[in-house]
Parts: sequence; C-alpha cells; structure tokens
Amino acid sequence: MRLSYTCSACKKLNYIKHKASTRPDLQVKLGTDDIKVDCENCGKMDKKHLNQITTVVDNRIVLLGLLIGLILTLVFWNTYRAISTASLIIPLLFWISENKALSGFNKFLIKRK
Ligand SMILES: [Zn+2]
Repeated sequence: MRLSYTCSACKKLNYIKHKASTRPDLQVKLGTDDIKVDCENCGKMDKKHLNQITTVVDNRIVLLGLLIGLILTLVFWNTYRAISTASLIIPLLFWISENKALSGFNKFLIKRK
C-alpha cells in the first residue's frame, strides 16, 4: 500500500514517500502530527494532519502478484496442472493482503491535540 493525500488546491492524489502500517506508527516515525507536503501536480506546499493521510492500493504490488502467478502458471502448465491452476489465485491473494493493510491503516485515527 501507499500513503497518499489529496491536494487542497487541485484535488489531485499525491503519494507520500514515508512508509508505515498504521497512523500511530507514522506519527512516531515523523515525531509530529502534521506532515509537510508538496503537490507534484501544482506545486502547492501544504501541511496535512496525519488523519488526512489515507492509503491506496499499491498497483505495483498487485502487478507483481500477477506476474508471479502468470510465471508459475506457465512453468507448471505441462507438469502439475493443479499447481498451475492454483497459481492463478496469487494475484488475488496479493490484492486481499493489500486491502487488509489499507483498512488497518485507515481504521486508526490519532488524537488531535
Ligand atoms: Zn495540487
């Protein structure tokens, strides 16, 4: 998953480079409740409270799952057809785990001071 915020000026989704699995985690890492952001689209500098940071599925992860599933499917196609077919659910598993991670982050709000 990736951390993101919506720019208040142009409403475009921006990604944040920090990594954390929950908001309190991110708060500890940053040592502050606000994060300085810089919109990649319009260049607006802004301050966002951590509760305004949300997560989105990292498509690269899902794509990786798709790739692994596809490779295993092809590798086992002629030998172990059962494994080959089962490999098709790998991207789905990646997708599910991403969504679990998302709700894990989004569910915890930190206390506003
Ligand atoms: Zn913007």
